Amino acid sequence: MNVAVIGAGAMGSLFGALLAEAGNSVCLIDIWAEHVRAINAAGLAIEREGVSRTVPLRATADPGGVGTVDLAIIFVKATHTAAAAETARSLIGEAGLVLTLQNGLGNADTIAEVVAERRVLAGTTAHGATLLGPGRIRHAGEGSTVMGAWSRQPEGSGDARRVAEVFARAGFETVLTEDVRQALWGKLLINVGINAITAVTGIRNGQILDLPATAELSRAAVAEAVAVARARGVTVREDAAEHVLTVAAVTAANRSSMGQDVDNRRLTEIDAINGAVVREARRVGLEAPVNQTLAALVETLQAHYR
Ligand code: NAD
Repeated sequence: MNVAVIGAGAMGSLFGALLAEAGNSVCLIDIWAEHVRAINAAGLAIEREGVSRTVPLRATADPGGVGTVDLAIIFVKATHTAAAAETARSLIGEAGLVLTLQNGLGNADTIAEVVAERRVLAGTTAHGATLLGPGRIRHAGEGSTVMGAWSRQPEGSGDARRVAEVFARAGFETVLTEDVRQALWGKLLINVGINAITAVTGIRNGQILDLPATAELSRAAVAEAVAVARARGVTVREDAAEHVLTVAAVTAANRSSMGQDVDNRRLTEIDAINGAVVREARRVGLEAPVNQTLAALVETLQAHYR
């Protein structure tokens, strides 16, 4: 398959490399010129459990030279999805597809404002990656990648199956779902209960469990999001709040992606995570004061970076 990855940071580079190693024709697109230069000069270096390998890859900062692709994968941070969707539209021609595996709510809707909804696929991934520097990433962990058609009409399911097969052949543990919104909410709940708390306080995921008050804050944020999901007709697991704390324990040593964004003085995805819960709550006549407070704290923090 002919694939473009728009946003070739930690995750985009990783997914692009794994798809290229399986024989797909892949071009990485990123606005970060130094990273693009490093990949073209020496390939992408992937570190995994202390072992490093290099994958030859094509990268560019100019989507104009890429040509038409079968699949554009959007892996920018949620704050840049609208711009990436415009790039995707310019690449997919008459029949191409756009896939988002980003965190947060709203990415697929933003893409579907630019590209016909029947061409949009969405999902989540349990893979983890960290950017180490230009042309260098760490593959931090793996798990299943869930995807499905964004359109509620049956027309998209064949396309989703085709893309899922390409991912499976590239070694991804791939799950095709009929209800991609449920998958996105499931991942959102984990981000809601971990990211902002760790970002504001500077702690690692597992430290959420150190104090009863911190664990209770996580539970309260997740409980609000669960109520919103249910009011919107999305099925979520009964034990969602406890499940989030289990994830925090299993990933105890990790600093959340939002925590890393704050550490590196980058804009966070707060608006697509806790901010989205507040917006979605209002749409269904609920309130989400815990999420509102967490969102306000992270927004304040990122507005005042030195
Ligand atoms: P990242 O910051 O490492 O990479 C994003 C890249 O997008 C950067 O290289 C940036 O230069 C590029 N970019 C920004 N605007 C662009 C544009 N208009 N066109 C092209 N490139 C552009 O982010 P990441 O950690 O790879 O995360 C990407 C998404 O995946 C996020 O939604 C994140 O929440 C999600 N995610 C991340 C992980 C993880 O372990 N890192 C795991 C699961 C999901």
